[in-house]
Amino acid sequence: MTRIAIVGVAGRMGRTLVNAVQQDAGATLAGGVVEPGSSLAGADIGELAGVGKLDVRAVDSLAAIVDDFDVLIDFTAPQVTLANLAFCAEHGKRMVIGTTGLSDDELAALDSFADKLPMVFAPNMSVGVNLTLKLLETAARALGDEGYDIEVIEAHHRHKVDAPSGTALKMGEVVAESLGRTLKEHGVFERVGQCGPRSDTEIGFATVRAGDIVGEHTVMFATEGERIEITHKASSRMTFARGAVRAARWVAGQGNGRYGMQDVLGL
Ligand code: NAD
Repeated sequence: MTRIAIVGVAGRMGRTLVNAVQQDAGATLAGGVVEPGSSLAGADIGELAGVGKLDVRAVDSLAAIVDDFDVLIDFTAPQVTLANLAFCAEHGKRMVIGTTGLSDDELAALDSFADKLPMVFAPNMSVGVNLTLKLLETAARALGDEGYDIEVIEAHHRHKVDAPSGTALKMGEVVAESLGRTLKEHGVFERVGQCGPRSDTEIGFATVRAGDIVGEHTVMFATEGERIEITHKASSRMTFARGAVRAARWVAGQGNGRYGMQDVLGL
């Protein structure tokens, strides 16, 4: 039985994760962490998540539950995640990280922990999205250098703070890598005013932020005469949460390293 603690347990993903751990026969809920000083410290995390009393109280510091858990699931913010990595490396814990929006420096800092603890880091934990990445690889190889323009379009709820989404960037990276391109060189993230026609090799990104959209991604391969669209639509956060719990069970049996969902799913 994998003992899981959830940091950011009062957040959108945090509350969904409580639900997902409860439903998983191979995992048990060992604790939940809220922001330091939060008035939610001491609350029953089952009640917080709307699944009924679980007799596990939210704490506002990881140190308070250090002996209780094996794997920490973290869907918070980049600087919080980096601090948690340091804590978990020091205390022999494992991590599943869903936080997105890390800068290049923050990604490098995350990478520096790869030899200090086992971690799964993925901008999207859904099984469907990770299969979609495989489909994109195939499509890009077949079409990308044959005159098909590639565009990535994503839509999320109005509260999302980073753009484009980590998943859109990952999709763009997979396509770019399959074609020997890089997003640094070929990614186009803004088109405003007289920006001229698109180039053959650019990979364009468009972002929608509206209402309660959980997460939608389309990669378009368009040429004269036809258009192929590969689309994934998430309709519930449970898909990410279930993937994260599966990753937690999996990483419990791994040695130090940075892994992705493709490793967890054996894709
Ligand atoms: P949210 O704002 O609802 O939740 C974040 C929570 O973190 C908040 O409750 C906040 O109080 C808490 N927090 C902040 N600092 C903290 C600290 N020091 N200690 C403990 N808790 C702290 O956001 P969300 O929609 O749940 O998304 C969180 C992150 O997960 C974002 O980066 C988002 O893009 C990402 N996300 C990833 C996936 C995936 O599959 N990888 C899916 C959905 C969301």
